[in-house]
Amino acid sequence: MARTDAIVLGAGIVGTSTALQLARRGLGVALVDLRPPGQETSYGNAGIIEGNTVFPPAFPASLARLLRIALKRAPEANYHLRHLPVAVPWLAAFFAASRPQRLVETAHVMRPLFAQALPEHEALMADAGAGGYLRRDGWLKLYRSDAAFAALGSELELAAEFGIACRPLDPDGARALEPHLGQVFRHAVHWPGAASVSNPLAVTKAYAARLAKRGGVILTGNARSLHRADGHWRIETAEGPLDAPEVVLALGPFAPELLAPLGIRLPLGIKRGYHLHFRARGNAALTRPVVDIENGYCLAPMEQGIRLTTGAEFAARTAPPTPVQFGRLLPAARALFPLAEPVEATPWMGCRPCFADSRPVIGRAPGHPGLWLAYGHGHWGLTLGPATGRLLADMITGATPFCDPAPYGAERFKQ
Ligand SMILES: Cc1cc2nc3c(=O)[nH]c(=O)nc-3n(C[C@H](O)[C@H](O)[C@H](O)COP(=O)(O)OP(=O)(O)OC[C@H]3O[C@@H](n4cnc5c(N)ncnc54)[C@H](O)[C@@H]3O)c2cc1C
Repeated sequence: MARTDAIVLGAGIVGTSTALQLARRGLGVALVDLRPPGQETSYGNAGIIEGNTVFPPAFPASLARLLRIALKRAPEANYHLRHLPVAVPWLAAFFAASRPQRLVETAHVMRPLFAQALPEHEALMADAGAGGYLRRDGWLKLYRSDAAFAALGSELELAAEFGIACRPLDPDGARALEPHLGQVFRHAVHWPGAASVSNPLAVTKAYAARLAKRGGVILTGNARSLHRADGHWRIETAEGPLDAPEVVLALGPFAPELLAPLGIRLPLGIKRGYHLHFRARGNAALTRPVVDIENGYCLAPMEQGIRLTTGAEFAARTAPPTPVQFGRLLPAARALFPLAEPVEATPWMGCRPCFADSRPVIGRAPGHPGLWLAYGHGHWGLTLGPATGRLLADMITGATPFCDPAPYGAERFKQ
């Protein structure tokens, strides 16, 4: 029987980073997935390492915005009517978590992870020779109305309290950073401490390649075959069965299907998102990700072109793609930046795995010794993958965790 120290199930950015962090501590590690590393949600994100994050996304406060979403006219969100019965309990919890005091609590609870986000990526990139993908020039948030900018007050105050750098700019100040932005916004905020990558898939692949060089193995296998045998966890792989005392489940939006047979049912929601690459007109260029806040999309420069990513779509993970948001937001995006023709005929779709309290689950699986959970990173899986891996590696090896893991535990859902 083949045996290793730890098996990581799921080779997205979260699982791959965790496997590499464990290997860096000297553990024997097997990374197991149905597909090669980085091919699902971690493939197509906007590439932003958002260590600057203060507040999580919140339920729309304005009735006009809610109505626009309900009428399916909003560029920032879409939903499938038949999915609403599933989504409503999650939305109710999200509504409760969006109260101002809860947002402040979440900001405090998440701060230690965000503070460690970029340093851990830098450490893994240095190890993996992937530093060439990293840009340290922040990101830019744009506000078309005075009201949207004014609503930022408490976020900027808390950022100052946390010591996070941010620079409110007028349109000319923003165009000094990104000269090809159109005259469609009234305010901007540059968050210089954020970073971004030019190819999220390549980063995950580089971490996986480094894992292999450190003696880890990357195997094809189905997480559904996980079971207890001879006092260990056992997984069936294409190379045969493999045992380990510790298993990390990092299956992102796919986690609930595997956890349900183990009796673990945590209230994960899905926010689907799409991307499409565009060429830029003439000599237009973008050097860092730019977000059009009121329209809820991001333009991020990637190796493949300018990647336009959409906001949330509330729909079943397996329902056919409905990329209707592009039609609603493209006029605004084209007014903001001179986008030429799309690079691909069909948009890519991914599923953000989201808990309503905007915290991931990182820690022990209740009632299953040796089983660890690392999923539900929502809008921040790329950002938090390496910091999550570091925290789990601390816990699994018995080191002092770099921050208190309690707020991220699965147990919080029992309260
Ligand atoms: C449009 C969009 C933009 C985004 N932008 C950003 C951003 O700028 N910054 C940021 O930090 N985050 C961003 N995100 C979020 C981020 O992409 C996700 O949080 C992250 O990719 C989740 O990673 P993961 O490793 O948990 O999941 P995944 O990448 O989905 O990995 C899960 C893995 O599990 C595997 N798997 C599934 N079933 C099985 C099985 N039965 N057996 C074995 N393996 C299995 C899959 O093949 C997959 O490789 C964005 C997301 C979207 C959709």
